[in-house]
Amino acid sequence: MGNHVGNRAVVLGGSMAGLLAARVLSDSFAEVFIVDRDQLLGVTTARRGVPQGRHVHGLLARGQQILEELFPGFTAGTTAAGVPTGDLGELRWFFNGRRLQPATTGLICVSADRPVLESHVRDRVAALPNVTFVEQTDIVALVTTPDRSRVTGVRVHRQTGDSADETIEADLVVDATGRGSRTPAWLEELGYARPEEDRVRIDLTYTTRHYRLPDESILNGDLSINPVSTPSHRRGAFFSRIENGRSILSLTGVLGDAAPTDPAGFMAWVRSLPVPDVYDVIRDAEPLDDPVSFRYPASIRRRYERLERFPERFVVVGDAACSFNPVYGQGMTVAALEALTLRDHLSKGAPPEPLSFQQDVAGVIDVPWDISAGGDLSFPEVEGERPPQVQIANAYMSRLQVAATHDATVTRTFMRVAGLVDSPQELMDPGMMFRVLGSDLLGAILQAHPELGEEAQGLAVGILMGQDRDPAMAAAAA
Ligand SMILES: Cc1cc2nc3c(=O)[nH]c(=O)nc-3n(C[C@H](O)[C@H](O)[C@H](O)COP(=O)(O)OP(=O)(O)OC[C@H]3O[C@@H](n4cnc5c(N)ncnc54)[C@H](O)[C@@H]3O)c2cc1C
Repeated sequence: MGNHVGNRAVVLGGSMAGLLAARVLSDSFAEVFIVDRDQLLGVTTARRGVPQGRHVHGLLARGQQILEELFPGFTAGTTAAGVPTGDLGELRWFFNGRRLQPATTGLICVSADRPVLESHVRDRVAALPNVTFVEQTDIVALVTTPDRSRVTGVRVHRQTGDSADETIEADLVVDATGRGSRTPAWLEELGYARPEEDRVRIDLTYTTRHYRLPDESILNGDLSINPVSTPSHRRGAFFSRIENGRSILSLTGVLGDAAPTDPAGFMAWVRSLPVPDVYDVIRDAEPLDDPVSFRYPASIRRRYERLERFPERFVVVGDAACSFNPVYGQGMTVAALEALTLRDHLSKGAPPEPLSFQQDVAGVIDVPWDISAGGDLSFPEVEGERPPQVQIANAYMSRLQVAATHDATVTRTFMRVAGLVDSPQELMDPGMMFRVLGSDLLGAILQAHPELGEEAQGLAVGILMGQDRDPAMAAAAA
């Protein structure tokens, strides 16, 4: 153990956020308990406590990097177990029905079914000698000191046998029970204020089916095909090759639109996507299950950092703190970033001071929330304030998506920012702005001055084509 902070930490919820928190806690506590209502160990299929696990889960590049840092050799381990990987910028991305120019980013996409990815993380956590899984156990309530100023443990009920509730004592309790977290209600019961909530209603539905392709060469080597939902082309999909020769297809409908779960209706919806690529790949594929759907009404951000009082020895992470519109693929990566924040706090040699920790967690959430909640506001029907910076950012992003259809450098920068590796400031760098807006300006000049003639037009096309070439790909081709 690195830096001793306490005897026992208890993590509520053993999904991605709970596992990653447990990993860093294991360096600072003599023992770490992970409590979950489900059986976890050995499970590689979707489970009741994580129903979203049936649907496509992309791991953003920053998430992959953190998994590698917390579990050295993680990616090699998943690859050895048959999980395909690829370069994030070389996937088949479509925005507004147009394909982004592929770009070599050096960022790794680990393409696993969600329960399989979780099982790889869980196996690494389970191998830590001081971590114990308390499975098939319902979390009932927090236990506090009589004055309710400090959390001292958690009351649980084991599903096996007819035992009464029992208390697990702890020096620190971490809530990682996901979007349905009871912390707001617990705080109220203990005499604290509930956190304010920011909500962005998107009324999204995922409908998902697994397939086996008769011949994977139909993909031309691509790992995934992703026509992304945008205001002008609302129906979206994520198709990915995953482990064991299987593929997964999640269809995404927004603002009440939803792909049906009957096979014929599902297929008809696939045909209605803005590009034929997904249909072409699955029409002769063998379905491995029936379509299932998951409704996601709204993104929710709980503003714990704004509370004036909070019980000691208790913190909140993962979807329990913020649940993002899943199409941006941020939840697991934000959970990983929050685990690093927890590690920073523990490095001070004491349990985290809760409000200071939640303020730092809010700092982690800010950028991904601006990307996803801000992006949702580009749909005119989504309710919410649109300050000028959101309007400008959305207008700029739609130009950027056009520029990325012919400029691999734009694709690369976009992928690094969307992957939470680089700051959004990179998109506003003067060179990027020229790449994004320059073609529009050139087009506007040519339109306004038809007298410039063919020679000038040829010159303009040459300049734009110059942007086409991704240096890394050009070098590879040479
Ligand atoms: C349709 C969909 C698609 C998504 N796609 C992506 C994606 O592409 N990329 C990405 O990064 N993220 C994605 N997400 C988000 C991702 O699923 C979560 O961010 C991620 O699982 C981390 O969540 P968590 O660990 O905080 O909570 P959860 O995964 O919700 O897990 C909560 C855990 O707590 C346990 N639990 C809850 N209450 C109790 C209780 N009372 N007693 C005992 N145990 C309890 C549950 O059993 C569960 O194990 C998606 C989400 C949805 C809905």
